[in-house]
Amino acid sequence: MQPVDLLTSTPNGLFSPLGGFFIDPLRPVERTLITHAHSDHARPGHRAVMATRETLEIMAVRCGEGFAGATQVAVPGERQEINGVAVTFVPAGHVLGSAQIVVEAHGTRIVVSGDYKRARDPTCAPYELVPCDIFITEATFGLPVFRHPDAGSEIRKLLASLRVFPDRAHLVGVYALGKAQRVIALLREAGYDRPIHVHGALERLCALYAAQGVALGEIRKVTPGRSRGIDPAFAGEIVLCPPGQIQDLWTRRFPDPLSSFASGWMRVRARARQRGVELPLVISDHCDWDGLTETIRETGASEVWVTHGEEDALVHWCGTLGIKARPLHLVGYGDEEEALTPPPQEAQELR
Ligand SMILES: [Zn+2]
Ligand SMILES: [Zn+2]
Repeated sequence: MQPVDLLTSTPNGLFSPLGGFFIDPLRPVERTLITHAHSDHARPGHRAVMATRETLEIMAVRCGEGFAGATQVAVPGERQEINGVAVTFVPAGHVLGSAQIVVEAHGTRIVVSGDYKRARDPTCAPYELVPCDIFITEATFGLPVFRHPDAGSEIRKLLASLRVFPDRAHLVGVYALGKAQRVIALLREAGYDRPIHVHGALERLCALYAAQGVALGEIRKVTPGRSRGIDPAFAGEIVLCPPGQIQDLWTRRFPDPLSSFASGWMRVRARARQRGVELPLVISDHCDWDGLTETIRETGASEVWVTHGEEDALVHWCGTLGIKARPLHLVGYGDEEEALTPPPQEAQELR
């Protein structure tokens, strides 16, 4: 058996010829495993989906109950056989329910990381390292310039701004799945106990996280008001909304809004300027350069495949260490809401 019999890259994503399943495919297939519920990985319309319970629940919330023909829960750490291929889901530390997928047959072990991070996150199970022969990694922030600061220190910047500008509504752009809940949980850890206001598109996922035992405190949905005037009740309050909504009409009701955005991309000043972000918060749910390179080293993999992102820099780095590496140039993956339209249910709420 060659490794490409166990797993290979196709235009529709990673596919196991031996197992007869895809992983995070771009178009609907008969059978797939899904690493996590971000819209660039978890698309509706597959015949059979295996994923963690949380991922399946999030997909149902985002895409509707009928998002797949059949679903099967993968319990993290539990091995299952699919056509002679052993498959194990292992926490990836990216968002609630996110998993790496370990596939093994005839003594070869390949780990598909999906999206992952090593930084602490109170809203999901931490990344677990799995030694392997071939490690398949993302490279969203795969350039040495990307070094994410401690998320707690970024949250303190937001709290400091609230003290300096007690009359301004603080609007924070956050991705609906993962980032919103992490920012809220970090605010709570930092002792912020006022109600946190959220755009309607974030409400259901916050409720889902809370139901899974993630402490988010009091969340208040901002109802889309038709009133014209500015609402003074939002002075000095934190309002979370999808990144695309910050410049929207929606925000006209907030007193002297201060625009913030929590994303790994805020490390790039030009991006913050382009978006008119006054208070960039560098908070990422992906590994930075050190996280990626340390993880590759720790897996002990003799071969690395890079799915998407800054593939070339990471492939080059592997080469300098004598690790065989190749870019897969998988298209269609990216920083979900930025690169792609939001999932159907959320798109509705954004209107
Ligand atoms: Zn993701
Ligand atoms: Zn992704």
